Amino acid sequence: MGNRKRMKDRYRRFSFLSDIEGMKNAIGEMRGMFFPRQPLLNPDARPGSSDPVPDEAWFINALTDKIARHPENGMEYPFYGEPVFDAPLVGFVRGDDPIFDKFKEVIGPHHFTPWEIMRWQAENNGVRPPEPQELSVVSFVMPLTRNTKRDNAAAVDWPSERWAQTRLSGEIFSQTLVREMVTDLMSRGILAISPDVTPKFNKKRYPKVGWASPWSHRHIAYAAGLGTFGMQDFLITEKGCAHRLGSFVVNLKLAPNRKRPEDIHAYCLHHQGIPCLKCAARCPVNAITAESAHDKEACYRKVANSLKYCNKKYHIFIYGCGLCATGVPCESGIPKPLR
Ligand code: SF4
Ligand code: SF4
Repeated sequence: MGNRKRMKDRYRRFSFLSDIEGMKNAIGEMRGMFFPRQPLLNPDARPGSSDPVPDEAWFINALTDKIARHPENGMEYPFYGEPVFDAPLVGFVRGDDPIFDKFKEVIGPHHFTPWEIMRWQAENNGVRPPEPQELSVVSFVMPLTRNTKRDNAAAVDWPSERWAQTRLSGEIFSQTLVREMVTDLMSRGILAISPDVTPKFNKKRYPKVGWASPWSHRHIAYAAGLGTFGMQDFLITEKGCAHRLGSFVVNLKLAPNRKRPEDIHAYCLHHQGIPCLKCAARCPVNAITAESAHDKEACYRKVANSLKYCNKKYHIFIYGCGLCATGVPCESGIPKPLR
């Protein structure tokens, strides 16, 4: 144990200065900076001329395979050898689904439609922007592992070390994953884009919704029928709400594979009239209440303060919390009475 403590003290000792990836990630998330250049569309490739055109099964297999085998889906010291994510859930939404106009009302006019973000990519490549009905959005849920959930469920004030690591390593891996998918598709002559790894992405306070981004993976995942919202605003899926989400837009017509519940809270016990509010009891700053659901500002302050804690304790430049997503009935699946 003494040896481990010594190693820990040496391991990235001054992360406020030395965790360059963490700092780049935090600034990138807010300002849409530091992302590698977008891959260019291969003008000579004709989709389907050599390989079959990717279909729904191709996307499910490609994402599942990458998450299972990718060397970057891995934890840092002292958890080397453990994956960050388990096998994903994958869903599809049509680019002309009216829900994207609804998002403009509910989230705000800043939220991109698939067409708006794809137009940017098309113009960058000097090609005609595809029509909304020629687009689809691929959405995926990457569940955290049992170890990470167990550790965070035992945490009381601040995130566990595994949870903190998954916030950073998981985000970096998730960006690598979508970049590889987009690069593969563009090399086949198929326009694709993941908005959160472009300069168009930045998180800020918006008048109606508070802290938000112009592309909400959570809302996209709801649109794809992958889950519904809980009291803590996390998406409750068949693999629970302790996860990371990703999505990208592609110039292909893919068929939705899941039915989207009309009720955006269909899998939350409290919203369905069944006593719960375990997430509220887990929140150290009372940011969740029966009356006002999730107070994003109070949550944001707590999460921002965790940066200092994670640097000091875990030597990692990241913020996080997720206490309300672990040790709760919706942590690892849809709560039993609602399945
Ligand atoms: S803990 Fe209970 S009330 Fe909170 S989101 Fe999950 S199911 Fe809903
Ligand atoms: S993430 Fe943390 S601070 Fe925010 S609501 Fe959940 S438990 Fe509270």
